[in-house]
Amino acid sequence: MKPLMKKTAFVGTMVLAMATAGAMAAEEAALKVGEVNVYSYRQPFLVQPLFDTFTEQTGIKVNVLFAKTGLVERLKQEGVNSPADLILTVDIGRLSEVYDAALTQSVTTPALTDAIPDIYREPEGHWYGLTRRARIIYASKERVSRDEAPKTYEELADPKWRGRICTRSGNHVYQVGLAAAMVSHHGEAKTEAWLRGLKKNLARRPQGNDRAQVKAIKQGECDIALGNHYYYVKMQQNVEQAPWAQAVYPVFPTIGGKGTHVNISGMALTKAAPNQKNALALMEFLAGPLAQQIYAEQNFEYPILEGVPQAGVLKAMGPMKSDDLPLADISRHRSTAIKLVDKVGYND
Ligand code: FE
Repeated sequence: MKPLMKKTAFVGTMVLAMATAGAMAAEEAALKVGEVNVYSYRQPFLVQPLFDTFTEQTGIKVNVLFAKTGLVERLKQEGVNSPADLILTVDIGRLSEVYDAALTQSVTTPALTDAIPDIYREPEGHWYGLTRRARIIYASKERVSRDEAPKTYEELADPKWRGRICTRSGNHVYQVGLAAAMVSHHGEAKTEAWLRGLKKNLARRPQGNDRAQVKAIKQGECDIALGNHYYYVKMQQNVEQAPWAQAVYPVFPTIGGKGTHVNISGMALTKAAPNQKNALALMEFLAGPLAQQIYAEQNFEYPILEGVPQAGVLKAMGPMKSDDLPLADISRHRSTAIKLVDKVGYND
């Protein structure tokens, strides 16, 4: 970590406080003064409750800039003058993008490395996972028996599924993450063959988002789809989409004989970070048990911190044993995965 950039104002407040009666209490209060700036791809409903709790506990104000796209470009443009301290996003693809652009800095503290297993963080602390998101199989209740349903991602390339599978675009970060995990487990040649087999099994040209694949099962267009696990719960809570969810059941397949492919939501300390100390406090809070539980309950994601209970709706979906491949490995194979998706003409 580089030294605090706003040290002067900070120390000034402390000195003033020490001079008054009740120096200890005042010093504590002074230490709590400050703010932290977050660029967030994560939606307000999801992260605001976390920030509110953090502010209550520490007195540190959290300023948030939410955007669906363009935050990395913005960070790049702002360079060392960026006001952003922390970036919050989903998917290893987006965390890698910030890291690869040299917009992050290394930060390691015992609180962070004890909470977050090494497979879910960049080895030098340039990014940390906060929640796990499983990419699962949705199978038609009507047309796919539990015995018949694929138990592995590899099986999705089996000719018995010809014309029966729906997925979104092969270039989407969720699909690239899965293909990159396939490269990590099986190498480039086998992943290419897998993608070709999966492509042959598609019922239609890749299109739509994860929920649209489940809708297509409901409408009889396909029998099997890939989608992130939390949409199963979110669809059930949506009047229009509940019938889509009711038409399917979730399957937690294994990859390379290990476990279910998971991606992460995560955080990274920016290189510019003008409020480093506060940013670190927020990072440690987000990795802690209270924030992990709020996170898990708001978006039905799997906590990364061991011992934090899963949301009840997730338990009802069945046990989830995740693949133990380090996310940093998956990240390294993303470019190969993207190349292969193009090579096999997955989206054609
Ligand atoms: Fe999503």
